[in-house]
Amino acid sequence: MIDLTIKQALAKLKSREISATELTRAYLDRIEKYGKELNCYITITPERALSDAAASDERYANGTALPLDGMPIAMKDLFATHGIRTTAASKMLENFVPEYESTVSQKFIDAGTVLLGKANLDEFAMGTFSKTSYFGAPVNPWQKEKRLTAGGSSGGSTSSVAAGLAIAATGTDTGGSIRFPSAMTGLVGIKPTYGLCSRWGCVAFASSLDTPGPIARTVEDTALMLSAMAGHDDKDSTSSPNAHFTSDGNLQPVLGDGKKLRIGIIKEFNNVEISEDMKTLFNKRIADLKSMGAEIVEVSIPNILDALAAYYIIAPAEASSNLARYDGMRYGLRVEGEDLIDTYKKTRAAGFGEEVQRRMIIGTAVLSSESYEVYYMQAARVRRMIADSFNSAFEQCDLIVCPSSAGTAMPLDSDLTPLEYYALDLFTVAMNLAGIPASSVPCGLAQNGLPLGMQVVGRRFDDMRVLQLAKHIETAASIDNRPTKIMGC
Ligand code: GLN
Repeated sequence: MIDLTIKQALAKLKSREISATELTRAYLDRIEKYGKELNCYITITPERALSDAAASDERYANGTALPLDGMPIAMKDLFATHGIRTTAASKMLENFVPEYESTVSQKFIDAGTVLLGKANLDEFAMGTFSKTSYFGAPVNPWQKEKRLTAGGSSGGSTSSVAAGLAIAATGTDTGGSIRFPSAMTGLVGIKPTYGLCSRWGCVAFASSLDTPGPIARTVEDTALMLSAMAGHDDKDSTSSPNAHFTSDGNLQPVLGDGKKLRIGIIKEFNNVEISEDMKTLFNKRIADLKSMGAEIVEVSIPNILDALAAYYIIAPAEASSNLARYDGMRYGLRVEGEDLIDTYKKTRAAGFGEEVQRRMIIGTAVLSSESYEVYYMQAARVRRMIADSFNSAFEQCDLIVCPSSAGTAMPLDSDLTPLEYYALDLFTVAMNLAGIPASSVPCGLAQNGLPLGMQVVGRRFDDMRVLQLAKHIETAASIDNRPTKIMGC
């Protein structure tokens, strides 16, 4: 049952071939079996799941089924869930139980989903391998004996979906945290347009970049998930009044039948070193798109290689401000000190992990009066230029494609320096700086049998077309990412 996509499962529920309770039990059994080993959940909520499922079965019985009724999902543990602990994978929030529900998780309740639990992630979503989690890193189910990363920061979300421990999951993407982990696990994910999905009730990392979005096994499932999450929210001042995205899971082709589509390739990325496999698969997919009638054009985003440097100034700057609230006074961890200042110090030293502390130090430094102009303002200018260049590029093409990463998933025990980790975000951060939608979709399997992904990038609020093109790529690549196939069981 766990090999069903959302679309297939919904059809079987509608025809009463299976019940939501049976489906949920299948997932709970699988979590019981593999949850510890994969470490993809921080908290599992079996009782909640079964009561959600029972309510769902009732709605199917009386003909009031909701759009995603009975779909067992994992919620990244960054979304506040009423009465269910929400940790952001940090010791600071280890015992934090919110008294409110984030807008995104509320929307999934309203869509009829079943909550299986809270997915593991990098601490406060800062990282690329999910290794900065206070609860230990999740494991990639692909070749799991090799203990590869499921990517980060939404690594618990991707590990759970790829392994069949959730039918789909939520993620957040500040600099690549939906796309990179999706690519590492053979899944589809989209970082939607900034402002399409509400950030309200989502633990903040870098507010001008943080973007909630879905992760699923197919492009159509991803569209169904996004349809549930998207929408304007008065509680989030950056939520757009244009925030609309609806899909019934059927994506219209944008290629074939003489359809015209101009697809851009970013010139500056041509000189970036990537694996032979990535190169080959990317070129194969481009050739496929061409044969379907796409016109391929080269576009230039002159400052795109500076996006990393700008991101690693802006994101820590915002993080240092956002994380100032964890002072031991209001909620979260508190370590008593000799006086107020000492309590702050002891609480923050004990509550935050190394990477989070590093970001706050960098952030505080770049915002200091001596550095503000040369670092922060300069980064803000680079950000503006990148956004403008994307706008000009989209005068020459309708969508852009590029790799999601240089290579396949690496072992969790890889010994990389912080800078080497940061460099892995090269292909993803620019889209966050520009606020534009970008999806990662599998483009094939490398020689070592591991999946690789490529991105489809669009204009602001062109999320639908991004997914429409992603579906063509998915079909052309046609990798088998069924959980039982990946896990061999
Ligand atoms: N890897 C990036 C970072 O560490 C992106 C993280 C994210 O998107 N949340 O900041």
